[in-house]
This record gives sequence, C-alpha cells and structure tokens, in this order.
Amino acid sequence: MTLWNDLLGNLAVVAICTSLWTFGNRRFARLHRNASPLALGIIMAGGVVCVMMLPFEFMTGIFLDLRYTFIGISAVFGGPLAVVPSLVAALLMRFKLGGTGVMLGVTHILLTAGLCLSLWRMTRAKGVSTYSLTVAAAAVCLGGTAGFFIVIPADRWSEVFPPVLIPFACLLFVSTAIAGLAILQERRRMLVTDENRIYRAIIEALPDCLNAKDMAGRFVAANPATAALMKVSDVSSLLGKTDADFYPPAIAAEFRKVELELIGRGAPLMVEQKFRRPDGQNTWLATLKAPILDERGAVTGIVTHNRDITIQKQTELDLATAQTRLADAVSSMADGLAMFDRDGVLLFRNERYLELFPLTADIRGVGSRLKDVLKLAIERGEEQAVAGCTENTVERSYASLMSAGKRQFRLADRRWIEARTRECQDGGAMIVFTDVTAAKEDEVNLKALNVHLVGLATTDSLTGLANRRAFDAAFDDLTRDCLQAGDDLALLMIDVDWFKAYNDTYGHPAGDACLKTISAALARTVATYPRAVIARYGGEEIAVIVPGVREFQGSALASSLCEAVRACALPHAASEKGIVTVSVGSALLSKRTGRRRGDLLADADAGLYEAKAHGRDQVRSAQAPKAFVASPSDMPLSAEVPVRSVSI
Ligand code: GH3
Ligand code: MG
Ligand code: MG
Repeated sequence: MTLWNDLLGNLAVVAICTSLWTFGNRRFARLHRNASPLALGIIMAGGVVCVMMLPFEFMTGIFLDLRYTFIGISAVFGGPLAVVPSLVAALLMRFKLGGTGVMLGVTHILLTAGLCLSLWRMTRAKGVSTYSLTVAAAAVCLGGTAGFFIVIPADRWSEVFPPVLIPFACLLFVSTAIAGLAILQERRRMLVTDENRIYRAIIEALPDCLNAKDMAGRFVAANPATAALMKVSDVSSLLGKTDADFYPPAIAAEFRKVELELIGRGAPLMVEQKFRRPDGQNTWLATLKAPILDERGAVTGIVTHNRDITIQKQTELDLATAQTRLADAVSSMADGLAMFDRDGVLLFRNERYLELFPLTADIRGVGSRLKDVLKLAIERGEEQAVAGCTENTVERSYASLMSAGKRQFRLADRRWIEARTRECQDGGAMIVFTDVTAAKEDEVNLKALNVHLVGLATTDSLTGLANRRAFDAAFDDLTRDCLQAGDDLALLMIDVDWFKAYNDTYGHPAGDACLKTISAALARTVATYPRAVIARYGGEEIAVIVPGVREFQGSALASSLCEAVRACALPHAASEKGIVTVSVGSALLSKRTGRRRGDLLADADAGLYEAKAHGRDQVRSAQAPKAFVASPSDMPLSAEVPVRSVSI
C-alpha cells in the first residue's frame, strides 16, 4: 500500500505542476517568446525533483516514479527549451540517488525525452491535438518501461509485469494524458480568449452597428456604433431594452415585424429600413438580420448588422433628381442634340433632333450609323448631293460633321440647318443642330437693308447723283490711286449759270426740276467714262472726277458736259443765253504739272471762277486759262464779261 501511496503522491505532484503551469502560462507568455517554454521546463523540472523524492523501490536499485510524465509533457508542449530543465533535473537526481538501476533509469529518461521531442517536431506545425497527446502518453509509457523488458528475465515477466509494471505503465499513460489534456484545454481556452479579444476589438471599432437581441427583442449585446445610432451614451444603456424604448411606437412596431419575420424564417434577412427620427432627420439603414441558433438549430435570438446609408441614399436621390432634370432639359431643348462614338454610331439623341429631319426620323435611332443616315437623307430627297455625287457628298459631310467646328447646310425644303460639333475625349462627337432659317432670312434682309442704307447715305436724294460724302471718299481714293499708278486725274467743277435768277423767275420747285434734268444729262455724258465719278458737290454745283485721263481728254469731257446741258434747252428767260447753261472749272492732277492733291479743288474752283468771269457757258482751266475754251457763241477768250460772284 505504501508503494501506491507514493505513486498517488506522484500524481498529486503532476496535478499541482500542471495547475501551476496553466495558472501562470498567460503571464509567462506575455514576458517573452521563450519565457513560456522555459517556465514550463522549470515547473516540470520541479515536478521531476518532487516525484523523484517520493519514489517506490521496485527492485533493488530500481526506483519508480512519474518523472517521465514531466519529461514527456515538457517535451511535447515546450520542445527542446522546456525539456532541458526537466531532463537535467531527472538525470542529476537519478545520478544522485545512485544504485544498480542508474543506467536503466538514465536510459528511460533519455528515451522518453527523445521520443517526446520527436513527437514535438512532428506536431510543431499543427500544434498538439488530442490524438498526438495520446501518442505522447503512449511514448511516455514506452520510454518509462522499455528497459524492463531487457533487464528482467522473460521467465519473471509474468511475476513482475501484471502486478507492478502494467499498473505503472497505465499510471504513466493516464497521468501524461490527463496533464496534457489539462494543458491542451488551457491552451484552447487561451486561443478562444485571444480570438474573443480580437473579435471584440473589431466589433467595438466597427463603424457599422452590430447587436444581438433575445427572442423578445431585448438587446443582449451591442457595439458602441449601435449606441451612437440609438443616441445613447454607452452600450450598457441599451442592454435589456427594446426598440420601443428608443423609437416612436409605429417605427418600433415596423422593426419588430421584421424581427418576427426573421424568427419565423430562421434564415438571414436583408432589408433597407427608412424612418424619420424623433429629431426629424430622415435615416436609411441597410440591415442584415441573422438568427442565433442553439445546438438543436432552434432560434434563440437575433443578430443585427446595421449600416447607416443615409448619406449614400441622399446622394443617390440627388443624382437621380439631377439626371431627371438634365433629361428634361435635353428633351425640351430648342436644338437637336446627337452624340456619336468614334465610328459615327449614334449613342444618344433628343426628340428635337428627329423633328429637324422628318424624312429620315425613322432611321435616326440610337445605334444608327451617321454615314448610312446621310446616304438615305440624299436618297429620300431630304438633303442634296453636291454635283450629283452621293458618295462624295456623304464622305465630305461625315468628315465635316464629326470634326469640331460650325457649319451651315441647306435642306431640300429650303431650311437652313447649323451644325455645331464638339469632339469628345473618346474620339466621338457631340453635335447640336439648330434651324437657322429665320436667322438666315433676317441676315439676307439685313444685307439688302444695309445696301439700301449705304445708298441713301451716299446718294443725293434730289438728283440721284452721289452726294458730297461719297464725293469726298471717291476724291481721296481716286487721287491716291492715280498718284500711286502715275496716272493723271481731271477734276471738273460745274455750276449752273444764273440759277438764283432761275429760281426767282420760275420758282423753287421748277429750280429743283431743272437741277434734276441737268444732273441726268451730265450723268449720261459722264457715263462714257466708266471710272469717272459724278457727284452733287453742293447747291447747284456738280463735280466730276475723271481718273486715268490726259489733259485734253478732261477738257473734251468738260466741253461735252456744257454741250449736254445746252442740248436740254431748258428755257431761262433771266439768262442772256435764253436757256439754262453751265460753267465748268477744270483742274488736272498730274506729276508733270507738279500740282499737288490739295491744290486740285482750289484749281478747279479758280477755273470755274474764270469761266464765270468770261461769260459763263464755257470751260476754263486754272492752270492753262487760255489752253481751251468751249463756247457756242465763239466768244473770244479775252472777251469782257461782267464778273459775277461765284460761290462754290
Ligand atoms: P452764277 O451764274 O454766278 O452762278 O449765278 P447764280 O445765280 O447761279 O449764283 P449762285 O451760284 O451763287 O446761286 C446759287 C443759287 O442756287 C442760290 C440758290 O437759290 C440756288 N440753289 C441752290 N441749291 C438749290 C436747290 O436745291 N434747288 C433750287 N431750286 N435752288 C437751289
Ligand atoms: Mg450758279
Ligand atoms: Mg453756285
């Protein structure tokens, strides 16, 4: 009985050491990576020393104890670092005890350590399992008893093995297995604790709401995000409460309905929940609810994952509103809008685009090719082919429409369409088509009006001749051109003779009619010089600019003018001639005479003064007063005539 008492004492030591290790393991693990196996080794070494002090002597010099359990446990769970202290303690103790079984004891110690270390190597990657622990217990059994098969003669096996060695082996197996299981259990507990800590950290940091409720809808667990969503200060304020404690009854009832549906289904449920908070704020939640099942698969509670998607929903709504507005704006545009990809395939168009091309509206759908559309538009007579060549027209129109810019084209129904193209980044084109027919007509009318206004601005209303403004412009242009070209230019200044008297005699309206008749006669005569300009200079004075003529040609024209007026034979009772006549002052701009442009008007005026002074109805030149004179009455050039004031 003493023997078994000692062995039971050994078992107690195993239990104490195992408890010590499981108690301190977490603290050791925190110290250093190697602290844990080393501490295991030291505790197990302590166990070795204790059990070797409580041995029972099986045979002379051969002591039995549970040292192998400690060696095995330290090797399997801690590897070489842990086995060394227990191994050293066991060997030292064994040598210290001495006796005839030293070699057998040492062999058992080393064999156990070797077997269990091999097992540690094999299980290192996966970790110790119940199965490997069983193998380890068996290895300890083998390591602690193998030598007996050699040292004990076979004929004594039946005598020794059943009463002593088999129970001892069983004890080794059981003690190793139980101690190992306790350590394994503790390791698993630590792993679960660590995992729990990680999950808790994740759940607490999760921005989404995660909570669990019991079957009555009471919160049993929640993370801080749930507390924030429910607008309470901390998680503990939620526990034991239901949605009805936080939301208006109608909303809480809605939420509860979903939970009951989930409990009925027993399977996860995903819903979007929209509600208005008591503070008036609209809130959207994307909610996943899953049942909590017990071992038999019965629902015992609900796990809820909520994500506040209010901002996302609001953005989606804003986007949808903006898209609707954009679509409305595009469809109600006064212009046609069409978007083509880089291959000229229509991607988008509004209604107005179809309205602008009624004969081809049916083929202008999304997916149609612009080239096909252009070809059919010509074939159907909506557009016209240039020079009758459809292919060329299509190619040119296509290239033009697909490149950035603005162009106008006319449809067969005489409408003008303007197409403005903007190239897109992907190589396609966005084209805006506008009916510019009205604007085009306005443009034509405006041009005509402009011509008319220019005419009014440069024409004398009474005589129909160019007015003074036009004369000044023509004078500047023609004199400059002639000087540059080296041509001569004649300026003829014409004044009606005794016209004041004509007015006095026949009245002002008759004077106007007379002026018109004279102007027409003069204009007809001047018309033989295509480049000549005739203008009403002022009052009853008319000026003629004749570029590109020699002096004699100017004089000849001046004489023809006098003759033309004379030929009208307008009666003038107050004139000594009996008919209306004109006097002409002639001047020449020529490089040869050296007269400058600024002198020309004064020269012509002086010539006119001369003509008046010498009896009127004649031509005089300031530069060459005696060079030419034209008078129907063959008036001598030197004839004395009353000098009248000449106003020009
Ligand atoms: P002279 O032979 O020296 O030129 O004598 P004249 O009476 O023609 O004298 P002057 O050239 O100075 O007279 C110009 C007159 O022409 C004065 C004016 O009554 C008249 N006159 C000027 N413009 C018009 C017009 O538009 N219509 C009419 N009816 N008379 C005009
Ligand atoms: Mg006059
Ligand atoms: Mg005059």
